[in-house]
Amino acid sequence: MERLTDLKNIMALCERFGFTFDKGYGQNFLVNPSVCPRIARHAVQGKDAAVLEIGPGFGVLTRELSRLAGKVVAVEIDRRLLPALDVTLKGYDNVTVVQGDVMKLDLAALCREQFPGKRISVAANLPYNITSPILMKLLETGLPVDSLTVMVQKEAAQRICAEPGSRACGAISLAVRFFSDPEILFPVSRGSFFPAPKVDSAVISLKVKQPPLEGAARACFFRLVKAGFAQRRKTLSNALSAGMGRTRPEVAAALAAAGISEKKRAEALQLEDWLRLAQCFDSAAPKPD
Ligand code: SAM
Repeated sequence: MERLTDLKNIMALCERFGFTFDKGYGQNFLVNPSVCPRIARHAVQGKDAAVLEIGPGFGVLTRELSRLAGKVVAVEIDRRLLPALDVTLKGYDNVTVVQGDVMKLDLAALCREQFPGKRISVAANLPYNITSPILMKLLETGLPVDSLTVMVQKEAAQRICAEPGSRACGAISLAVRFFSDPEILFPVSRGSFFPAPKVDSAVISLKVKQPPLEGAARACFFRLVKAGFAQRRKTLSNALSAGMGRTRPEVAAALAAAGISEKKRAEALQLEDWLRLAQCFDSAAPKPD
């Protein structure tokens, strides 16, 4: 099969397999030939690399990953694409396609079965409607993942990679930074896809790190961030007392213990501030009986 970035080949596959693009699955396929090799070069570290791809579509990125990696497992939700993938990935013998919804699959079990004892990289042109839930599932589940190299909408990329303390920072920026070091790699214009979406995209890299908190303190960090950014225009004192169900004096005590001014807003805090606050919140602002 010829290049999968050629529109005539995409149309031929659509016709042969009776395939029509489903917006609900975020099906915008890459037709810019320079993008997939760049994603693959970044995602694949060495000939033995184990790579998990989310949403292969017709397999345009899968082929590039397969050329560089030891093994590629590609999870695709849309059963209609499976017969086409049989054809487009013929001869790419280190690729296994798994049909399933990445949000429902037991990814830890999948990694154990497919990549026993290996650390893995994730690569994807993600379905845009579920970018954040997929990223959080991949980061939170304690999978043996070292890095994620994924295409997301440009605005999502900016939000995910925003520096804490900047106006663009939101709950997702801090949640991602809890587990990884994020970076925008390069922009991708809307014309690089078929059908073309209404917005531009960007490829981001998340280098996974050891999470800084475990157990109750970790859960408290995520509740605090959610509460703080749910009312980001309000001072921390107001936002946290509303969102955490505590009195203002209780919240004031916790903020004082963490050395944070109660007049600040969520977007002004650094990751370290949130981590300190999470560690002392329950002892400084005890839950009412
Ligand atoms: N990789 C192809 C490319 O770059 O041209 C297709 C990318 S397209 C943006 C997103 C792909 O993810 C589609 O193939 C879609 O069917 C698949 N997908 C959507 N939701 C999914 C889910 N929950 N689990 C697995 N795959 C999903």
